[in-house]
Amino acid sequence: MKICFKCHEGKDESEFYKHPQTGDRLLGKCKECTKLDVKMPCEICGDEKVQAHHDDYLKPLDVKWLCFKHHRQDAHNQIVT
Ligand SMILES: [Zn+2]
Ligand SMILES: [Zn+2]
Ligand SMILES: [Zn+2]
Repeated sequence: MKICFKCHEGKDESEFYKHPQTGDRLLGKCKECTKLDVKMPCEICGDEKVQAHHDDYLKPLDVKWLCFKHHRQDAHNQIVT
């Protein structure tokens, strides 16, 4: 068991990516947190300048990557001119 420094959850070693430069040879954050740090292009238009959007703030691991315009328009129903 290892505690992830980002979500502070104790998880099995298999839930961590390997990292040769750390003491226990595992990355300090779990695979799920590592994935959240990797930005994905906008789901709608593929723009690479994205923002993280959470449909539900109680589920911080449920992240959507959207560009500014689609984040406002599609995720928050705000009109962007
Ligand atoms: Zn984590
Ligand atoms: Zn977009
Ligand atoms: Zn949002």
